[in-house]
Amino acid sequence: MASLITCPHCGVRPKEEFTIRGDAGPVRPAPEAKFAAWDAYVHLRDNVRGVMKEHWQHSGGCRRWLVVERDTFNHAVHSVVDAAEFAQASAAKPGRKAAPAKPAKAASKGRGKA
Ligand SMILES: [Zn+2]
Repeated sequence: MASLITCPHCGVRPKEEFTIRGDAGPVRPAPEAKFAAWDAYVHLRDNVRGVMKEHWQHSGGCRRWLVVERDTFNHAVHSVVDAAEFAQASAAKPGRKAAPAKPAKAASKGRGKA
């Protein structure tokens, strides 16, 4: 069974149309931030075994950046939102991780043939 991702703009698409960038959690520090803050932003990532939010680009479709909530253990996709909406929701709730406004339902669960 192929892994499918529901792009909020294009609908259900195979995961091969997408390019993954990584963890959507780190927040870019201010330009004048200390070296340690920039070092952590650029180099340090949690190695999550479970559900996490990641940046994915629909490179084979609309080319929009998305935030995909995915289980890294079984590759089940829980929600997909446009990255701009995710950023707006994050800005509206400073100090808290953003909850997506209107998450698209996941198209499928499980891992595809790789
Ligand atoms: Zn798309």
